[in-house]
Amino acid sequence: MHVRKGDKVLVGTGDDKGKKGKVLKVLPGKGRALVEGVNFVKRHTRPNRTNPQGGIVEKEAPLNASNLRVVCPGCGEAKGFRRSRDDEGRLKRVCRSCGESF
Ligand SMILES: [Zn+2]
Repeated sequence: MHVRKGDKVLVGTGDDKGKKGKVLKVLPGKGRALVEGVNFVKRHTRPNRTNPQGGIVEKEAPLNASNLRVVCPGCGEAKGFRRSRDDEGRLKRVCRSCGESF
């Protein structure tokens, strides 16, 4: 997965094309990610403790991660990244636009 929890991402396709949001959750097995404020779907729910009235709630649904582009925290561009490892061997992404690594 090229997206991680906490990343800011840009939606590249679909109804929410052009929207930006923070990754709330990554579902690697499904190749999907849940993004804050993006891809709301209406769900009909029964009354429960958090929603005593029941009815229709809008909730984010996971998006296909291949439609998401990571936004650089340094320059705000989503031009892509190359991968490299830091001194401790952790995988880092390096912005193609400004060189920021994160
Ligand atoms: Zn950048």
